[in-house]
Amino acid sequence: MTTAILSALPEEQAGLVHALAHPQRITRAGRSFWRGELHGRSVVLALSGIGKVAAATTATALVEHFGVARIVFTGVAGGLGDGVNVGDVVVAQSYLQHDMDASPLFPRWELPGYARAVLECDAPLSALLLIAARDCLIGGSGHFSSQSEVRSVHQGLIASGDRFVSSAQESQRLRDALRAAGHEVLAVEMEGAAVAQVCLDYNVPFAAMRTISDRADDTAHVDFPQFIQTVASRYAEHIVGKLLQLL
Ligand code: SAH
Repeated sequence: MTTAILSALPEEQAGLVHALAHPQRITRAGRSFWRGELHGRSVVLALSGIGKVAAATTATALVEHFGVARIVFTGVAGGLGDGVNVGDVVVAQSYLQHDMDASPLFPRWELPGYARAVLECDAPLSALLLIAARDCLIGGSGHFSSQSEVRSVHQGLIASGDRFVSSAQESQRLRDALRAAGHEVLAVEMEGAAVAQVCLDYNVPFAAMRTISDRADDTAHVDFPQFIQTVASRYAEHIVGKLLQLL
């Protein structure tokens, strides 16, 4: 039973690769995959690349070539929901592709051929990921307790699309449009919903967590790289480590 750990950016993956026992690098579809063990568990580490198509290619390779039993995504995202602040973690309950629009043929955001807009993550795996995230941010192990700010862990809907959302106006518009259709969105990123769709196609359990690197507003282009350099990788390493121990 191999678990795939997917990251979007090399900065998010660095700590995990460093911690890998018996690392073996395999190239496939122009990508590097790292097979090995973390906390005694068989894992494959992979980079999704940026955007939905790149992420779908990586996810497909993980299933078809590596035969993984589950896929867990760790990465960063822009915070959209009230109180979803930089440094918080959002564990995905479900995903939606905010740039999917085949209206008026299909309702806005619905995936043609899937009869749905919202893709649910695997509930048991997501529950473990939530425990792992809470443990690292709030609980006993206190990896981040030296930082003065209080960090929160949220669970809910994340929207993905092929856009870096970087203005207050755009993020407000996105939030309002989704809310009007009954979707309360917590965060926005560029890959998760594509991986969720591939996992639905192959019936592979999928869970995802995103650390908030920016608020998808006018300073997102400054906040995002700063966050990536400093904390993203440490979050991924600790939360994934805890999750693997819980599996
Ligand atoms: N060239 C940049 C590209 C980063 S794109 C770089 O490598 O530094 C932003 C990445 O972070 C994507 O993987 C996306 O999933 C996530 N992300 C973080 N904040 C985001 C936001 N405000 N809007 C969309 N994606 C965001």
